[in-house]
Amino acid sequence: MQDTAGIGDFRAGLRGQLIEPKDQGYDEARALYNGMIDKHPRMIARCADVADVINAVNFGRDNDLLIAIRGGGHNGPGLGSCDDGLVIDLSPMKGVRVDPANRTVRVGPGCTQGDVDHATHAFGLAVPAGIVGTTGIAGLTLGGGTGYLTRKHGLTIDSLIEADVVLADGRFVTASADQNEDLFWALRGGGGNFGVVTSFLFRAHPASMIYGGPILWDIKHARQVMQWYREFLPKAPLDMGIFVGLKTVLSAEPFPKEIWGRKIVALIGAWNGPAADGEKAFAPIRKELPPAILDWVGPMPFPALQGMFDPFFPKGLQWYWKGAYVKELPDKAIDVHLEYAMEAPSEMSLMHLYPIDGAVHRVGKDETAWSCRNGTWSMVIAAIDPDPAKANALKRWGRSYWDAASPYTAGGGYVNFMMGDEGDARLKATYGGNFDRLTKIKRKYDPENLFRVNQNIKP
Ligand SMILES: Cc1cc2nc3c(=O)[nH]c(=O)nc-3n(C[C@H](O)[C@H](O)[C@H](O)COP(=O)(O)OP(=O)(O)OC[C@H]3O[C@@H](n4cnc5c(N)ncnc54)[C@H](O)[C@@H]3O)c2cc1C
Repeated sequence: MQDTAGIGDFRAGLRGQLIEPKDQGYDEARALYNGMIDKHPRMIARCADVADVINAVNFGRDNDLLIAIRGGGHNGPGLGSCDDGLVIDLSPMKGVRVDPANRTVRVGPGCTQGDVDHATHAFGLAVPAGIVGTTGIAGLTLGGGTGYLTRKHGLTIDSLIEADVVLADGRFVTASADQNEDLFWALRGGGGNFGVVTSFLFRAHPASMIYGGPILWDIKHARQVMQWYREFLPKAPLDMGIFVGLKTVLSAEPFPKEIWGRKIVALIGAWNGPAADGEKAFAPIRKELPPAILDWVGPMPFPALQGMFDPFFPKGLQWYWKGAYVKELPDKAIDVHLEYAMEAPSEMSLMHLYPIDGAVHRVGKDETAWSCRNGTWSMVIAAIDPDPAKANALKRWGRSYWDAASPYTAGGGYVNFMMGDEGDARLKATYGGNFDRLTKIKRKYDPENLFRVNQNIKP
């Protein structure tokens, strides 16, 4: 480990906390959501405010420390931390301020999606984001952000109005449609490459009681359900956000014991609006498909759906992720999915296809850094289990499933579903025609690549 000058001054100057390996609470502070990743940073700066972030960036840069930025710490490959470097941990910066008159929400970078849902729900509003409440809003947004409201309101970045950013040289800037427009463009999909975002301003949309939840069928109906769903989706009203998944019923409450461990195909979704309209929207599913083994779709507050899966996926499980964009779902692709569903290495392992149609397509490919505006789904393959001894089996299944599915994918994938360094070629495929522009913007705002613990766009 190198010597770091002025660490005492740095510590004293922080309004938040500096945690080093010798400090109590270090192991807890460095723990990531993905238990497969075990990183040992040299220090963790738990920032209380923007001043702390500026100090941390300056300190890290001046001492040649590797810097990782941490929002919710949910990232698959653990890019919210690093070995032997400085973690700028934003988790204490949690404020959410809803402006109901203008339907906007100011969000601190330490918020989880659940924090935002909780605050906005009181006003009958929501920011489109993901499907698990514990996910950090910062990393999710900077990568794109897909969830139940995506078909109607677009990606999370499509509701981003402005962001405050601390740059590599320690300057503080605001990026929006009329200030630092190039940076604003790059932040919308380009990940944490350009600086530390210290505040997000989002447009919020009406969402209060929804009609939604999961419907499950035995895997023997998976082909029929997937074929039906691929025809249904383009015709489905945009107020209906619905994804398909291949999974196993967890052997746990509240699932009925008689279906524990059963392989299944699931449609999980929500109608954003009154229950009577939702029932009509879900009627074809109930009428045209075989009887489900479990149908939990009903009226509930939007945050209840958003947090529905949180208890099943606590922090510390082993996760191995693979992702890709998908345009079509031919029968041959369904064959691959069924083959791998039958070989899943654990009950928790899954494959989901999240829709990226509707409002996502109304934004041009080059209007934001996120470029797969003509895709139909963002596919995730997630191999998950509590047991570290299963890590290799999870990786093997995830990799070989992804290889087998690749001929049916669009090239490139969602940066938030990548596992570690998938190489420049993959990032180029992901950003397509936007890659060169991203590189130029990186060169302008972070020429020394200070922020490189991410899906890295090299300057
Ligand atoms: C259980 C689970 C469910 C998920 N569901 C969804 C989903 O429904 N939809 C979806 O789109 N994604 C989903 N994701 C993926 C999620 O978007 C990524 O894991 C994302 O990276 C999480 O962000 P974070 O802030 O929690 O992560 P971190 O690990 O804290 O950070 C992730 C990356 O973002 C950078 N970063 C974080 N905060 C900042 C900041 N303030 N400024 C600059 N850079 C920053 C970090 O440097 C790092 O590179 C899910 C992930 C999990 C584990």
